[in-house]
Amino acid sequence: MPKQLRDFLCEHCGLEEERYISVDITQTTCPECGHTMIRLIGMPRVDLDGTDPGFPGAYDKWARVREQNRAIKGKRSYAGE
Ligand SMILES: [Zn+2]
Repeated sequence: MPKQLRDFLCEHCGLEEERYISVDITQTTCPECGHTMIRLIGMPRVDLDGTDPGFPGAYDKWARVREQNRAIKGKRSYAGE
């Protein structure tokens, strides 16, 4: 399997981490808390108002966790896809 740089998000502690990993891997283990980290597939380019009609709940949770993570770390930047 080819490898790609992918963002993973821990739903438990909110840690976000980039991993250079096989494209068929969809989850990994959080190094901080040991919980499952989910892969962020194709970072949603939707408005940050949480009105994605497809997954309002899931998106809302994702956005909240991400905001909390950003608030804590506050200085990470991303190189994009
Ligand atoms: Zn975690």
